[in-house]
Amino acid sequence: MDSTTTDATPLDFIREIIVADRETGKHGGRVHTRFPPEPNGYLHIGHAKAICLNFGVAQEFGGRCNLRMDDTNPTREDIEYVESIEKDVAWLGFRWHGEVLYAADYFEQMYAYAERLITMDKAYVDDLTADEIRAHRGSLTEPGTDSPYRNRPIEESLDLFRRMRAGEFPDGSRVLRAKIDMASPNINMRDPALYRIRHARHHRTGDAWCVYPMYDYAHPIEDALEGITHSLCTLEFEDHRPFYDWVIDTLDTEFRPQQIEFARLNVNYTLMSKRKLLQLVAEGLVSGWDDPRMPTIGGLRRRGFTPESIRDFCERIGVAKKENVVDVALLEHCVREDLNRRAPRAMAVLRPLEVVIENYPEDQVEHMDVVNNPEDPAAGTRKVPFSRVLYVEQDDFREDPPKKFFRLAPGREVRLRNAYMISCREVVKDALTGAVVRLLCTYDPATRGGDAPDGRKVKATLHWVAASDAVDGEVRLYDRLFSVADPSDDKEKDWRTFLNPQSLEQVQGCKLEPSLASLPEGSRVQFERLGYFCVDPDSTPGAPVFNRTVTLKDSWARIAAREN
Ligand code: ATP
Ligand code: MG
Repeated sequence: MDSTTTDATPLDFIREIIVADRETGKHGGRVHTRFPPEPNGYLHIGHAKAICLNFGVAQEFGGRCNLRMDDTNPTREDIEYVESIEKDVAWLGFRWHGEVLYAADYFEQMYAYAERLITMDKAYVDDLTADEIRAHRGSLTEPGTDSPYRNRPIEESLDLFRRMRAGEFPDGSRVLRAKIDMASPNINMRDPALYRIRHARHHRTGDAWCVYPMYDYAHPIEDALEGITHSLCTLEFEDHRPFYDWVIDTLDTEFRPQQIEFARLNVNYTLMSKRKLLQLVAEGLVSGWDDPRMPTIGGLRRRGFTPESIRDFCERIGVAKKENVVDVALLEHCVREDLNRRAPRAMAVLRPLEVVIENYPEDQVEHMDVVNNPEDPAAGTRKVPFSRVLYVEQDDFREDPPKKFFRLAPGREVRLRNAYMISCREVVKDALTGAVVRLLCTYDPATRGGDAPDGRKVKATLHWVAASDAVDGEVRLYDRLFSVADPSDDKEKDWRTFLNPQSLEQVQGCKLEPSLASLPEGSRVQFERLGYFCVDPDSTPGAPVFNRTVTLKDSWARIAAREN
């Protein structure tokens, strides 16, 4: 049995909550979710989990899902990120409800709510410095202590808060804090900051503001204003939920959203921290956010992953309350399975070794009929030229073959896929270096496209490309970006020391069959015996560049088989 697929998938705990809410008629049975990225980086495979969950749940229950930019921190946010987020969500196959929404569009409302909290004696302006506030906060074992400004008159806080907004004070000189309980066992409830001063230009509101709301204060308000019924977020916000509820209760918002936490996705050999991904880009350790080694949606897309394979992956990992680490082999398995169904086959030789078929007519070229995809009869056939001079992989020849090597060797006969059986008669070497430059072979014309009439067998079938029509191209082979399963978890070493120096190999001078000459960017093909590949945007007319998405070897299937 295939352990990775089940027919009747039981509902995860979030869907169970939604089903129960609909049964009791909560929110009139309505389901409205949101995906709320902060536009301070590109989305990654972890975000894909949150996207599939939020948009998926909305689809399944006939509800809606908003795409909301959580842009409350002007210094790190940028329109470039906003655009990439929209593109990536759409590419994954999801359509948000209405226009893209921005937390910044609620700044005026958030400010008005903050004044209301001050008036209710539920918030105050604190003049302590950030360090002093930290010192007053206490610890997990000790309660915090009140700020000397905690009980300043309401009018004074109101006046100071208005002057904060008017730009009278420098960054960091004051904050607006909620007045809750400095002795609360939950540190998030010890008078958390609501507003800070930041004289910074915002990508959307420009210079209109110099006070900006804190995420924990802004988020429940955004959810309430949008009528979000189920505010799904990752586990690290569990301890923040009491404050989320405090904001909703204290402001007594018309609509009461509910926060529900789930475990974030972790994948081995991969980092998911936006800060570190940004560092990889900024320090030139990768070629950009869409470097095919990056776990970003843009990187996976350029690498050749399909949206279907990523959605399939997210479905298989499921949604739970407990953190775990998913094997990156599962992600690779998902794309392999998808591409096996869809990717047309082609032949490409990465490290060419010339083969001359001595008994094949000099000027003859035959066009072999070749099936495009054995998994998809509708994909049809194509013509692949065969000529006297061909290329095979250097790896597929050994002058002195070890025991289990069945491919080409002196005197050895093999099959050329979709063509003929050939025998190696002679090895031509460079007089100076001794390197093998070409193989002189003969072919058996009676074996065209099939077996030998006399029934003799060969033990290997090789891919090849005819020199007559070969296209020169570049192929980029990728390995994991990190060489250890957990690249973040070492106290002594910087995470960057775990980068895999062999994560990219650029192979130039590859020989490709002519059908590969000018495929559109993003086209996906299987190179027979080598893996799945995708046309890179660096391609130029007549000089294609291919990225290897994955090899054909499915380590996940092996793991799954062993576990059964
Ligand atoms: P940060 O807040 O540190 O900048 P983040 O990864 O939380 O980084 P957000 O833009 O806030 O980034 O994330 C948007 C949404 O995606 C949030 O609801 C968050 O919970 C969710 N998310 C982020 N990372 C993961 C992950 N690894 N697995 C599942 N969901 C995630
Ligand atoms: Mg976040």
